[in-house]
Amino acid sequence: MITNNENRTVCSQCGGRCCKSGPCCYVPSDLNLENLDLVGLITKIELTGYISIASSAGFLYLRPKRKGGKILDFKMDGSTECSLLGPNGCLLSFEERPTGGKALIPDKDFKCKSTINERQLYKLWLPYQRLLRYAAESFIDEL
Ligand code: SF4
Ligand code: SF4
Repeated sequence: MITNNENRTVCSQCGGRCCKSGPCCYVPSDLNLENLDLVGLITKIELTGYISIASSAGFLYLRPKRKGGKILDFKMDGSTECSLLGPNGCLLSFEERPTGGKALIPDKDFKCKSTINERQLYKLWLPYQRLLRYAAESFIDEL
């Protein structure tokens, strides 16, 4: 569990640069994936409405949708902001936010660092690659 590290003063001065360069990312436990089968995951994605299946070099994971984004979204160019970024920051409470967002610690000089690295994220998502691939196949008509 990540302790609330919000700093709205610093983030409003920055203007939400991190969320404007694209959505952060979930880890499996954020969405209770350990207790979901394929139907459960597809249902969660459909009901939530703001989750997309993303890919980094062919490695699948879940993140919030980009603005105007679809469920299947393999674009990684940082050109579109997160759909959950509102005028006053993230629309989700700190507790509801993806771990990738919670792990980024606001820095007054805007040199914000994350407490979770790519390697850790890969390790966490590795056991779910098959589940995510099947889920992606079920949304293939979106492409
Ligand atoms: S976490 Fe850092 S990059 Fe993101 S809005 Fe706050 S200060 Fe800006
Ligand atoms: S979910 Fe919230 S913290 Fe994460 S990128 Fe979107 S607006 Fe930012």
